[in-house]
Amino acid sequence: MKILVLGAGVVGTATAYYLSRDGHEVEVVERRPGAGMETSFGNAGGLCPSFAGPWAAPGMPAKVLKMAMQSNAPVRFSFWPELRRLGWARKWFRECDAARFRVNKLRMQRVAHYSYACLRELMAETPIAFDFHAGGVLQLFQTDAECKLGNIAANALAELGIPHKVLDPEAALAVEPALKHARVAVAGALHLPADASGDSHAFCQALAAWLQTRGVRFHYATKVDHLLYSQGRVTGAETSSGPLTADITVIAMGNQAPAILAPLGIRLPVYPLKGYSITAAVTQGEQAPNMSVMDEHSKVMVSRLGNRIRAAGMAELIGDDLSLKAARKDLLIRTVRGLFPAGIDYEHASFWAGLRPMTPDGPPILGPAGWDGLLLNSGHGSNGWTQACGTARVVSDLASGRKPEIDIEGLTLERYAA
Ligand SMILES: Cc1cc2nc3c(=O)[nH]c(=O)nc-3n(C[C@H](O)[C@H](O)[C@H](O)COP(=O)(O)OP(=O)(O)OC[C@H]3O[C@@H](n4cnc5c(N)ncnc54)[C@H](O)[C@@H]3O)c2cc1C
Repeated sequence: MKILVLGAGVVGTATAYYLSRDGHEVEVVERRPGAGMETSFGNAGGLCPSFAGPWAAPGMPAKVLKMAMQSNAPVRFSFWPELRRLGWARKWFRECDAARFRVNKLRMQRVAHYSYACLRELMAETPIAFDFHAGGVLQLFQTDAECKLGNIAANALAELGIPHKVLDPEAALAVEPALKHARVAVAGALHLPADASGDSHAFCQALAAWLQTRGVRFHYATKVDHLLYSQGRVTGAETSSGPLTADITVIAMGNQAPAILAPLGIRLPVYPLKGYSITAAVTQGEQAPNMSVMDEHSKVMVSRLGNRIRAAGMAELIGDDLSLKAARKDLLIRTVRGLFPAGIDYEHASFWAGLRPMTPDGPPILGPAGWDGLLLNSGHGSNGWTQACGTARVVSDLASGRKPEIDIEGLTLERYAA
């Protein structure tokens, strides 16, 4: 079959891989000059199935409100009454109770662990390199209260059979010796040895280049204007380079997916959640982290990507604004410096902002959308790098008329119909 993938972020590029592997003729349309240039460009790099979970959690609305009142808090939202945001926030609020949290968390865990297994397989099947590091992730706690929450998380991990270890401060420093230089308190940690990290932009670039040698066509610098459709069937897309037709069109456009689907009457509850990252060179290896460290106090994740570190965090519900605010860069650097004061070239750190394509409940939206010839692979939120390969494989299975290897209950658009 001829299949058009719209968007070459980590989700679209991975989708092109599985579709091509399944023998389809694949074309990818991307408005940027290369793959992985938007949200997939500067994320924290965490491949973290062990703690993949929704942003909608018990206690979050109060926490978000409290933080929004503080100046330069890591969480911020606009009070401007934008209808799109209000509708999304209302749905998000409904997902914040304990029962909904459990359902959503389990759905995301199902995708994330499957996805990690798919990524490992993809790595064995292709020659691509992307600063992959399988050293696990350390969730760091600075206070006793955070340690208590860590213990609750550990119980949940035990219930799900996910490898983990609760560490006292001494053991935490043994796992990540660079923390010995920290200026903040290390009260304890949770080690997730099965998690990993890698550069998703490098992944996209390398995979896209490899796919091009295998016959997949990437139309870069080509904007999708609208979908082509008639009589209940999507037949392709009108682009800045002219029409492209296909048997199946896959929507992997991150935050732009709702706008492209709206003329078809498809409402995708995806809203951008802005975050920031810095990337800095490592100057003294033993002073910089060797593994990914998730600082639960600031909610900033620091990953080692080869001879660089990437630190990312913050959450702003302010629309499509991608402006870079110096105060946010300062806050991020201050936070990371507290953890790793030396061995990193903070002076020349590059600064980036991206928009997580968030669903209100957390899981992505995969598969059918009520139109023949159309499949969704959207709404990957704050876990898109972790979930990309698994969701791509599910979508390729659906396109090929096969039953996906994981249950897609709760992962399709249907869940919002009720
Ligand atoms: C600060 C931050 C930290 C994060 N950390 C992590 C992490 O540690 N681990 C993790 O798993 N996830 C993380 N994420 C989330 C992850 O980055 C996203 O979920 C993921 O990148 C989404 O991928 P995507 O392909 O859906 O979207 P994108 O990467 O945005 O790709 C969509 C593509 O569609 C293209 N497009 C859109 N409109 C059009 C059009 N009209 N015509 C043509 N092309 C179009 C865009 O140019 C873009 O390339 C983080 C995100 C942020 C912002």
